[in-house]
Amino acid sequence: MKYYRHVRWVFLALGLATVIGLTVMNVYSLYALHDNKVQSSVEKQKRQLMEYTNQIRSRFRYPVRTLWQLDMEELKASLSSPSNVPPDLMAIIEEASRDSLFSDIYLTTPDCSPCEHYGDPIWHYQPESGLFAITSDYDQLVSDGLGITRTRMNALVQDYRWNTRVIFDTHNSMTVALINSTSREVVAYLLLVIDQDFLVNSYMGPKLAETFGTGEETGIIVWLHDWTKNEVLSTTAPEVAYSYQNVDFIQNFPDLLNNWNLKAAFTVNPDIAASRASLTRNLLALAGAMVLLIGAFVFMFFTAQRERALAQRQALFLANVTHELKTPLAVISAAGENLLDGRVTDPARLKSYGTHIFNESLRLRTMIDRLLDVARSNTKNVHLRKTPTHVPDFLRAYLKKKKSYLESHDVNLYLDIAENTPAIKVDQSDLESILDNLIDNAVKYSPDRKFIEIRTKNSSDMVSLIVKDKGVGIPKEFQQYIFDKFFRVEDALTAQTKGHGLGLSIVKDLTTRNGGIINVTSTPGKGSAFAIQFPVSDSHQPQDGTSTSNPIHQHPKEQEFEHAS
Ligand code: ADP
Repeated sequence: MKYYRHVRWVFLALGLATVIGLTVMNVYSLYALHDNKVQSSVEKQKRQLMEYTNQIRSRFRYPVRTLWQLDMEELKASLSSPSNVPPDLMAIIEEASRDSLFSDIYLTTPDCSPCEHYGDPIWHYQPESGLFAITSDYDQLVSDGLGITRTRMNALVQDYRWNTRVIFDTHNSMTVALINSTSREVVAYLLLVIDQDFLVNSYMGPKLAETFGTGEETGIIVWLHDWTKNEVLSTTAPEVAYSYQNVDFIQNFPDLLNNWNLKAAFTVNPDIAASRASLTRNLLALAGAMVLLIGAFVFMFFTAQRERALAQRQALFLANVTHELKTPLAVISAAGENLLDGRVTDPARLKSYGTHIFNESLRLRTMIDRLLDVARSNTKNVHLRKTPTHVPDFLRAYLKKKKSYLESHDVNLYLDIAENTPAIKVDQSDLESILDNLIDNAVKYSPDRKFIEIRTKNSSDMVSLIVKDKGVGIPKEFQQYIFDKFFRVEDALTAQTKGHGLGLSIVKDLTTRNGGIINVTSTPGKGSAFAIQFPVSDSHQPQDGTSTSNPIHQHPKEQEFEHAS
């Protein structure tokens, strides 16, 4: 049996360990899932950043996308003066001039270049007339742009396989070198001056907002940043100040806008926030379930322990009761046998045998009464014989019966009974058992001076009966258990005192069954007071609201004369 009990706990512990293991795995996979989600959201945003830069590049190239189709041989032959620019090139230039991205368009041949000498004449496109005019009045940036492109092309042209090449001068201008790929020489340079204001405020800024949304909640904040000047040109979240510490990712523009880049900070987007919230919810639910499970396990363990202890006490109780019943029976039957034999004739011995039989039968009776009390308190639907009871009268009659017991235990009794106590409706044999148990305990647990005070108190709807002693008292931590079946305080005095931990549980059952309640107040070393309260019987309301106390300080012997009449 013992073996099976252990196996049961081993299985339970294994089950619990499995559940905990599964839960930990679950939590781990929830985390992994969440991390994956965050990771893939970041990857997606990085791809969007790259895509954005590609779109910007395409945007620049779009107006000049058909330049490669020009016949470069023919172009070279015709470019003797601005009025000779072939119509197919003019058509492309016209389209580019309509694009707000570019503010000015210049054309030059490599031998007529202002790249060496700023101020050399250059062909400037006039949108009003649709023609080129020669000018020496141009900005330094035009000369810089052409200079950069010429230097780059000189280095590149021998190995270059295509017939156009776009070169950006930071963010100032875009120059397209038109190349004769057969003779590997540059035929002309077409320079388009970039309108910075339009580029940032009318194109890149709105496109940033369109691609990444605005505000912090979109999951990403993007700053268009001029890193040479440490200046933010545009942002998707103006409310968030730019700081290098916030930047999680940098995306450069391939081949263009070299001084600028995109700086991104990954924040929590609604998707991730929802996933995080559901992760937290799941974790909380799992934690709750775990706590419940472990709580249930611990609870089961302790209840099993308590039940085992209870079963042991019950078994002990039965063994003791059987033993205690047998002892007086043995004495009675031995005395009876001797009397039956007729061998005892001496009157003194006859009296002694009679006294033995009487005392032992009384002991037997008390024990049987206690057993019946236990049986009664265990039976749920026992029939109660409730009668209206006047507590002072009942107490007087009860104490008269109890007189010899109290005397034999040398009890100092103090009575404080309110005479005008209203009647209560109780089963009087229950009330007797209650008092028996409380008085027995007061005697048992008062090792030195046996002082018992019995007091009644009444309010308009309740009558209280208090049994107080000056005994050992009950430590606070045990007070909540003393009404449990078979519970005994574990101390030296209780160990020496006869009892099975049933008295107070019987008292509580009988009190409750009669509609009353019981309370204990106790201080270790000073004594205990048990108060039982019963509702006033409907038919017996108090005559007046006051309770006139009529204290009686007596030894039990005196009490009989005072109240028995
Ligand atoms: P028992 O048979 O042990 O007296 P009870 O149910 O009557 O069983 O009481 C339970 C425990 O409560 C006792 O073992 C004792 O430790 C404690 N107790 C009960 N009454 C008193 C009292 N008047 N003074 C001190 N301790 C008490």
